[in-house]
Amino acid sequence: MIKILANDGIHPAGQEMLEAAGFQVNTNKIAQEDLMEQLPSYDVVLVRSATKIRESLIDACPNLKIIGRGGVGLDNIDVDYAKGKGIAVYNTPAASSRSVAELVLAHMLTLSRSLHLSNRQMPAQGNTEFKALKKSYAAGSELQGKTLGIIGFGRIGQQTASLGLVMGMKICAVDPFVQEAQIEMALQHGSTVSATIATVSMDEMLSTSDYISLHVPSTERPIISNQEIQKMKNGVIIVNASRGGTIDEDALLQGLQSGKIGGAGLDVFVGEPTPRQELLQHAKISVTPHTGASTGQAQANIGTELAEKIIAYYKNQ
Ligand code: NAD
Repeated sequence: MIKILANDGIHPAGQEMLEAAGFQVNTNKIAQEDLMEQLPSYDVVLVRSATKIRESLIDACPNLKIIGRGGVGLDNIDVDYAKGKGIAVYNTPAASSRSVAELVLAHMLTLSRSLHLSNRQMPAQGNTEFKALKKSYAAGSELQGKTLGIIGFGRIGQQTASLGLVMGMKICAVDPFVQEAQIEMALQHGSTVSATIATVSMDEMLSTSDYISLHVPSTERPIISNQEIQKMKNGVIIVNASRGGTIDEDALLQGLQSGKIGGAGLDVFVGEPTPRQELLQHAKISVTPHTGASTGQAQANIGTELAEKIIAYYKNQ
């Protein structure tokens, strides 16, 4: 029987598919230091970001056929080495796109209506300062009619565009490798409409967008630094759910301080898991601890996508 170790867990939907197809799935975590001894008895190992699959471990497992990574990045796996040994390496890049895009929209709505402040201040002052708080959150704004700038028009960027279009926003997308994209919008179950969105120049996006969201891979140098911020509209709202470091955090804090930037939504940070305290406590920043992909649906998608790939692999043997 094919033995699968899901060392960082797998959603029950994926586990059920594998077991129904006749595979044995172990979800009991084996400590990293014990994998050398115990992984050789498995045919497949599934990981998320915690378990590392390095060259020495691959060498210790001559029977290993598949390494599956639930999620996007493959930094914790020596991919080329594994492939060189004939091991298939799978990830699930599209499974969490919708989930991340919805979190981006949540940050945009939060900042537009001061929900982040209200949720911090109401529990402490709501009983005595209700009217004062109401007044302080009065300058809300709607997304409808605004322009949403998207940097990186790949899977998540396009999902975010779809949600923006449904909210009645104009989309201004930037991507050196994408000229245009067909954006599908689900209006209700089974009913979709689509729109073709052509990308524009960075300068056009920066100067016209009311909201800007980043969806690029991790970069060595920030894509948004002081120079780009100066080209933005006053009061712009920026959201980053891509990777820490794609925005220069010093420039962001300066922009917020000067009022050039109206607010920021951050799901990712430089130096995770210990982000800068001044970002976490800032009155103009809505924060989440890298939970872009943390929905039941995304985790189920990840599990079933991996299960489908494993089942297809063995079917083709
Ligand atoms: P993707 O590869 O589908 O899209 C990325 C796009 O960025 C590509 O179209 C690429 O051409 C474009 N790009 C590259 N360099 C660029 C640049 N300098 N300027 C503009 N565009 C550029 O990737 P994706 O699945 O959409 O993921 C996007 C980001 O989201 C990644 O950084 C990924 O790690 C991150 N992510 C975050 C979470 C979370 O929990 N917050 C979850 C999943 C993915």
